[in-house]
Amino acid sequence: MKSCTHYKMDADGNFVEMTPEEVEKDRIKGERELKEKIKRKGHDCSETPEFYEFWEDGRRYHGWDCSICGDLIHTG
Ligand SMILES: [Zn+2]
Repeated sequence: MKSCTHYKMDADGNFVEMTPEEVEKDRIKGERELKEKIKRKGHDCSETPEFYEFWEDGRRYHGWDCSICGDLIHTG
């Protein structure tokens, strides 16, 4: 099984491969940011999803947004 490679952008705007240590650090940072976001908002958006669907220019758009604050969770 091929493990997925993570990339980051360096100061020059080039994508460079991340080391496993950097990937782990990034994951921890993401988790901390999510926790802070939940604390700030007082709820976890991913636990209060609301399905939405609308048509525009003959195209159907759908996904989930937060039923409390309206933040986009996932588009379909
Ligand atoms: Zn929310």
